[in-house]
Amino acid sequence: MLRHLLAISLLALAACGQDDSTSGQDHAPPSPAPAEATPADTLLANPARVTADRLKAADDDPANWMATGRTYGEQRFSPLKAINEQTVEKLGLAWSFDLDTKLGTQATPLVIDGVMYTVGKWNIIHALNAATGEELWTYDPQTNRAWTRYACCGPTNRGLAAWNGKLYEGTLDGRLIAVDAKTGELVWEVQTTPTDQPYSITGAPRVFDGKVVIGNGGGELGVRGYATAYDAETGDELWRFWAVPGDPAQGFENTAMEMAAKTWTGEWWKTGGGGGGNPWDSFAYDPDLNLLYIGTGNGSPWSRDLRSPGGGDNLFLCSIVAVNADTGEYVWHYQETPGENWDYNATQQMILADIEIDGQPRKVLMQAAKNGFFYVIDRETGELISANNFVRTTWASHVDMETGRPVEIKENLYSATQAKVVSPAPFGAHVWQPMSFDPQTGLVYFTGQETSFAYSHLPAQTYEHRKMMWNLAQNPEAAPPDNGKVTPPQGYLYAWDPKTNSQAWRVPQEGPWNGGVLATAGNLLFAGSVDGRFVAYRAEDGQELWSMPINTGAVAGPISYEVDGEQYVAVSAGWAGAIPLVGGGMAPVHYRTEARMLAFKLGGRALLPPPEILPPPGRIPDMEMTAEEVRQGAALYADYCSNCHGGNVVSGGIAPDLRRMPAESHITFNDIVLNGAKLMTGMPPFGDTLDQADATAIHAYIVEEAKENPFPEPEDGPAPENVRFE
Ligand code: CA
Repeated sequence: MLRHLLAISLLALAACGQDDSTSGQDHAPPSPAPAEATPADTLLANPARVTADRLKAADDDPANWMATGRTYGEQRFSPLKAINEQTVEKLGLAWSFDLDTKLGTQATPLVIDGVMYTVGKWNIIHALNAATGEELWTYDPQTNRAWTRYACCGPTNRGLAAWNGKLYEGTLDGRLIAVDAKTGELVWEVQTTPTDQPYSITGAPRVFDGKVVIGNGGGELGVRGYATAYDAETGDELWRFWAVPGDPAQGFENTAMEMAAKTWTGEWWKTGGGGGGNPWDSFAYDPDLNLLYIGTGNGSPWSRDLRSPGGGDNLFLCSIVAVNADTGEYVWHYQETPGENWDYNATQQMILADIEIDGQPRKVLMQAAKNGFFYVIDRETGELISANNFVRTTWASHVDMETGRPVEIKENLYSATQAKVVSPAPFGAHVWQPMSFDPQTGLVYFTGQETSFAYSHLPAQTYEHRKMMWNLAQNPEAAPPDNGKVTPPQGYLYAWDPKTNSQAWRVPQEGPWNGGVLATAGNLLFAGSVDGRFVAYRAEDGQELWSMPINTGAVAGPISYEVDGEQYVAVSAGWAGAIPLVGGGMAPVHYRTEARMLAFKLGGRALLPPPEILPPPGRIPDMEMTAEEVRQGAALYADYCSNCHGGNVVSGGIAPDLRRMPAESHITFNDIVLNGAKLMTGMPPFGDTLDQADATAIHAYIVEEAKENPFPEPEDGPAPENVRFE
């Protein structure tokens, strides 16, 4: 299938006379700019004039995409319909813009009055002419690349917020920055996290009523999650909402933390390194109710037996919390996974809509959660309206509508001695890939996957929180699962009916980890697929109507906008996130190119550069090594390397597959690992915690794996589908 698609792609390029011998680094021949293309100085005369009134009326302003979820309610529905089920077959590439990175992209771009704003590698912000892709300016916030060590799932970013002539971005190293949309110059920046703790930011800020709010990640490493609101003009801190309570001896910040602390036991602030709960992605805002909704993260560590050994729900882990948008004060919460035990963060996108349920108009908040249930909640009160599973869930059989609580399946509870297979896995039934709500069909659309994972935890007496490290506390010594086997994940595009909380239809995908979904008034859905295509489906029934090979998995949320009467669909195309990083071999994308912004329009004829050809692998050196060295190397690899380079030295495709290192990387291996010789490509140094003997042991293990389980070279030599690995 992959070969087939690639062949089609290459044939199409050849037929168009494109020279396919050039490197993938080169730009495609620029498509001729339309004669009426607006000059840069006009576009930047008064840019990004986003106000509360404009955002409230966004549905009447279909040309623009002014916020990451398009509207305050984050519906990601475009009212544009020039591109529709009749015309979509004429869709073609209008322009592409290279983001100059192979580390992938997750950003949803903004388009405001003809200018596109998006995020490329290392938090670099690009302003582009939305009609032509011409670059207007860039801003590089000089993100600390070594911080990749502390980002769960790669140095990525999901986008910007805009307000009153400024753009806002959270940087990987924990800053919130405001940039002048006209000049691309820094207006202000604040460090929103302590720099001696492993916090990171990958989510998009949200802006409302002169305030900009940003969360943070780090639950896997052990930090205490929070969201902070700042004055959009000055960067002054206005309020902070803590997701979990801190050390009671220090006093609680507010009554919500006092209430939450009653649901924790033991010394969670020590054993969990902070407890977790990090709101690392989703927010939604209701201006009429003046409520900001915060999706909170998982516990640290995952096991509740280690984190809160006397039991308890552990508020506000894995919850949707409504706070007063002016003050950040707690208003209500709904905890999806009380006493969370499986990394079931509730940070998936939340959509606000007004729909009729059982004949009654309801103001709802909807989320397809990582724990496998689709929740419909009354967003005024927090009352659970309905919950139903969209994938197989073996941690809980159902949600009891009397109590609003999940009913756990006790025989699937794991322990220190006994591993259990549980669905969904930590990489989720649905994670951050944005979903959309189409008011015409009344359906919610998202991509997700059937997954399972063998969970266990370290014995309490051997577990100790490790500062600035991953703290998953899984126990490789536990007895293997006695309740089933881990099965390969299977991806789907889902259409979900929130009125009945049931599946309308689903379309199987080539593998897990497909893209965010855009719905449009043209009765269309757009999403990147894991087999390297950008696809349009009919919104009614999921019938595939159009697709184009884009040589990469595209995971970000697509958008639609209009410039000078022409409708565009755009996606930041690149392969990124948890499964591509740690789930080596789980997903079928093996070829990829530079991350690129791709914009499509009817009759578009621009060409993509061809996929890069994989260079020949370096010879695997003969190393003198002992079995003990290899064993030590395997343990160190699992701790320090597998989070990016993949378990068992099988890369998921973002960080290089180390079985295939070039010869010079074997020679300079210890320098790369200890001293940051490849820091600029995103490989952080570990010289503060590893020594020469450690690095040599890791090298020995990699060499052993490369020989025992070699990188699968195609029979006819390195094929384009294996591009990317250095
Ligand atoms: Ca997590």
